[in-house]
Amino acid sequence: MSAPVPLEVGITRSAGSPAAGKRVLLAEPRGYCAGVDRAVETVEKALEKHGAPIYVRKEIVHNRHVVETLAERGVVFVEETDEVPEGAVLVFSAHGVSPAVHASAAERSLRTIDATCPLVTKVHQEAKRFARDDYDILLIGHEGHEEVEGTAGEAPDHVQLVDGPDAVDQVTVRDEAKVIWLSQTTLSVDETMETVQRLRAKFPLLQDPPSDDICYATQNRQVAVKAMAPECDLVIVVGSRNSSNSVRLVEVALGAGARAAHLVDYAREVDPAWLDGVRTVGITSGASVPEVLVRGVIDLLAEHGFADVQSVTTANETLVFALPRELRSARRA
Ligand code: SF4
Repeated sequence: MSAPVPLEVGITRSAGSPAAGKRVLLAEPRGYCAGVDRAVETVEKALEKHGAPIYVRKEIVHNRHVVETLAERGVVFVEETDEVPEGAVLVFSAHGVSPAVHASAAERSLRTIDATCPLVTKVHQEAKRFARDDYDILLIGHEGHEEVEGTAGEAPDHVQLVDGPDAVDQVTVRDEAKVIWLSQTTLSVDETMETVQRLRAKFPLLQDPPSDDICYATQNRQVAVKAMAPECDLVIVVGSRNSSNSVRLVEVALGAGARAAHLVDYAREVDPAWLDGVRTVGITSGASVPEVLVRGVIDLLAEHGFADVQSVTTANETLVFALPRELRSARRA
């Protein structure tokens, strides 16, 4: 994880003449994480190398704009491998896939490129390792989320999904001395810790994961939102509804004291009524959101008198992941 640095709030932009007292706080870090950047670039490079169409199983990352833009360039998004013509190029999304999906792609002789985020792969490795040692693995995550399906699919006989604190009552294990919790990478840190506390109250010998499963990007974006939310009348989170980490940012903002918080894909979805009586608007974006969409919201707010934009910086991120091996020579300059 990038090392947290002391909170600094500094004026970074002042366009036009800001209406008295109206300001925007802009969370930093926000937007693209290293895993999303790698996944999107993987698809772009695969398109360049192999030409359209390129097939992608599920959304490459959970963002409408990204998916629509790639679709316009010849990417075909499918739900399952059986929708892909035999022998075609198929990219697995950043959220990861189970061994069963790899096997079904191999059966169809698909040429696969795996854009799974390395931090998701790390959780897969943990699941495999603890299943090998015959642990009961309590996987904290959201039912139906692709990442959870992929991780659980590594060890279906050992993994139980725990979807939040209220699900703890239903959990049973074979041997209380061999229980470990793992988690989806994009959860609320606070809610996950609440779930863990309740699990530990029930299973005192519960083991922690070898390292944090909630990834650096999820944690950093939540810390930045928490820092600015108490000062905000309104927080706008740019992100899609199926983006787990974006939805968590809305919850974290409200939990940290923002008077209101909304999720939007595009600036045009901002309801002017939200701005009534508002003096401070916080803006952040999920880990799958390109910065151009945040710029759209900043420009829209400027039209409503919120031209004073100040950064709230809680960490600096420098992590970059290498492209999948088969595309490495194609990394952009
Ligand atoms: S949010 Fe975290 S786990 Fe997901 S792609 Fe980004 S870095 Fe990887």
